[in-house]
Amino acid sequence: MHVNSTEPSQQRLSRTNCRKILAYSLILENISEIFTARKDTPVLKGGALCIAAGPDGKISFAGKTSDFLKAEPDFRSKYAEAIFDAGNRAVYPGLVDSHTHLVFAATREDEFAMKSRGATYEEIAAAGGGIINSTRKTKSAPLEEIVRQASKRLEQLISYGVTTVEIKSGYGLDTESELKLLTAIKELKKLYPIEIVPTFLGAHAYPPEFKNDHEGYISLINNEMLPEIKSRGLAEFADVFCEEGYFSLKETEKLMTAAKDMGFRLKLHADEFNPLGGTELAAEMGAASVDHLEAVSEAGMKKLAENGVVAGVLPITSLFSRLPFAPAAKMRDLGVTVALATDMNPGSCMCGFLPLAASIGATQLRLSIEEAVAGITINGAKSLKRDDRKGSVEPGKDADLVVMDAETVSYPVYHFAHNHCKNVFAKGRLIHSN
Ligand SMILES: [Zn+2]
Repeated sequence: MHVNSTEPSQQRLSRTNCRKILAYSLILENISEIFTARKDTPVLKGGALCIAAGPDGKISFAGKTSDFLKAEPDFRSKYAEAIFDAGNRAVYPGLVDSHTHLVFAATREDEFAMKSRGATYEEIAAAGGGIINSTRKTKSAPLEEIVRQASKRLEQLISYGVTTVEIKSGYGLDTESELKLLTAIKELKKLYPIEIVPTFLGAHAYPPEFKNDHEGYISLINNEMLPEIKSRGLAEFADVFCEEGYFSLKETEKLMTAAKDMGFRLKLHADEFNPLGGTELAAEMGAASVDHLEAVSEAGMKKLAENGVVAGVLPITSLFSRLPFAPAAKMRDLGVTVALATDMNPGSCMCGFLPLAASIGATQLRLSIEEAVAGITINGAKSLKRDDRKGSVEPGKDADLVVMDAETVSYPVYHFAHNHCKNVFAKGRLIHSN
């Protein structure tokens, strides 16, 4: 539990003389319960718990304070400046929103009015709304304006306890505009001390100029956008919207193959309205996750299980867009890891309140409370290939932690649609308090 240093002792000594090196950057004590998200003991109960993090921002201890005292009998006097009193409240791992589209310019409440009167996704798209509407506005907005709008949304997410978030491009649909959106995501990474995972979604829709030239747009993505994004290191994942009226199975395969060959990790939007076989294809290609799945087939679910691909379920989108809920409990029964995310976007889900996804998970999706919270923590981290560092409270993981203003870990799921987040820590550092 002490600092391990590989520096020569001479150098270490001289530095110790100038500045006291603390063995802990954070000792979060007086915790009532911890949602560890570990398979063996997902919840620690009984009160008087604590979590300690080293100067590297990683968790070195999580458990009973009495056990911590055995190793550090005078930690309260020795490390007084690292102590944070949780006030007998419950602690979660930092929340992981593994699917968002929060970088865009201009909202679409006018379309929402159509939707509230019963218009479908397809009818709205036919009236000039939908993804193309956002694209028009996003193309003309300067980078600074896009960053300003996205910052506001991102700060809201942090205030809910989110410390890892995936953000997709996809409202540019030409090389320059897609690069602008990915650059905006890069700017957000500089501005906020949380983990931001960038995904390229140039294949979100066909832009009007390529409506009758699908080959042309696919070639633009594969031969111009992807290489440019790769060379600038602007995205880790590549994603495609595989759906009728968007990208067919064959087109999806071409796009995913090119992205995979260039070293991108894969994600896929599939089976939102129609099961076209995208889930099966992505599973075979080793995608990290397939998301949506409201209309997933039995064969698709089995493929996810066989290939260890995470199902990214988006229950707030189902709620807001009057879609069926994805069969999360059935997928769990088949052995699929289920992540729950917001899908925050200006059309089908203008909501970034991730804890609501867990509450819908534990009600409409028939997951247990533990499974629902795992969906917004460790399983989200798995879908972003971050589960080696994020999503659970255990030694070796980043000390991304949320103190909930609740005594039990169940309470924030049960008392739903209310923000219970009190304090947010990222890598052992307090970054937000409500
Ligand atoms: Zn999406």
